[in-house]
Amino acid sequence: MDALVAHYHEVGLKGRNRDFFEQQLAGNLKRALRGTGYNRVRRGFGRIVVDFDEGAPVEQAAERAARVFGVAYIGCGRRIEPALDEMERVGLELLGAEPFGSFAVRSRRTYSSFQMKSQDINVEIGQRFKDHTGARVDLTNPDTTIWIDLFGGAALIYRKRLVGPGGLPAGVSGKMLALLSGGIDSPVAAWRMARRGAEVEMVHFHGRPFTDPSSIRQAAELAEVLTRYQLQTVLHLVPLGNIQREVVTNAPSSLRVILYRRMMLRIAAQLAKEREAKALVTGDSLGQVASQTIENITTVDSALQEADGLQILRPLVGMDKQEIVDDAKRIGTYEISTRKYQDCCVLFEPRSPATRAYASQAEKAEAALDVEALVGKALAEIETRVLELPPP
Ligand code: ATP
Ligand code: MG
Repeated sequence: MDALVAHYHEVGLKGRNRDFFEQQLAGNLKRALRGTGYNRVRRGFGRIVVDFDEGAPVEQAAERAARVFGVAYIGCGRRIEPALDEMERVGLELLGAEPFGSFAVRSRRTYSSFQMKSQDINVEIGQRFKDHTGARVDLTNPDTTIWIDLFGGAALIYRKRLVGPGGLPAGVSGKMLALLSGGIDSPVAAWRMARRGAEVEMVHFHGRPFTDPSSIRQAAELAEVLTRYQLQTVLHLVPLGNIQREVVTNAPSSLRVILYRRMMLRIAAQLAKEREAKALVTGDSLGQVASQTIENITTVDSALQEADGLQILRPLVGMDKQEIVDDAKRIGTYEISTRKYQDCCVLFEPRSPATRAYASQAEKAEAALDVEALVGKALAEIETRVLELPPP
């Protein structure tokens, strides 16, 4: 193997928007492929093609490329002269010695890049493969497929095709700050916004000094998984333990979780301002747990002022738990999220949390707290880590 081709969905991409998208995607692919021995990355004809030095681990590089947001699929194979005899010769090499019962040839060409139509190429090359291998053509359920991609006087042929995550290249939608617990939902929420082109920074609240550091480890590992997709992640770790103790001693127990959440939101909003993030992201799903009734969500949100000028995005709000779990498995966070860890919210967890708390109740309870001082102290204690995609 000596080349990769990245395809993306072009729907809705026009003019300058498309140029920006392609440029960002090519840049992100370069970052993802750093250290794999790629030679150059070129864009054009609605594709991005990556050439490799001889002996480079191209298949491993393909797997890295196939996680980059914006990629619809990656073809991993060989660059050839756009000629039928070359397609036949290299195609047969790719098919190799292992026997197979059926195959398909699927070519794709940009307008006038080759004198024959795609369908005619498929028939011609298919016939030649058939003569050589004795295998039959099956277009609906072939054992193996050879793809031929023709564009602007060049061609790529491949047998290995990896499906990418789709979406938009990380960075095209600006920066957002995701509230990351150690659980199943919030990493999926962060991933979904990153897939829409956001550069997602994360903030995790831990119960130190009243909990062990297990939730920090948990958050760091989840952020690492997301880094495979967005290439770099800034993770902020905030101690919430002292604030929780204040809440426990001064406020009604049924409101504890709501008040923790309001404090988290206030701290996150300040942090977002410092980091120039345009929105907060949470993993709430309507009605999933007591704290996620629409009344409670409204009351939590009301801790933010209009002047904060921040959107709170909840990409999972209409999803079922099973759908979220399926996503988490696909992304690679599920196994980490289901480990045991000490979550700060279960610290001093009340026996009966309020399922419908109103803003007026929360505000009344907060009158007994020095909210501003507590927020300021937590902000001063933030630890920030930068995670990078590890070298291959
Ligand atoms: P998750 O699976 O993401 O933990 P959950 O179903 O447990 O979510 P809650 O515990 O009600 O739901 O949390 C709702 C959202 O609040 C989370 O998805 C997350 O965005 C945010 N959140 C909760 N706890 C924390 C925390 N310790 N640090 C940062 N964000 C948090
Ligand atoms: Mg949770």
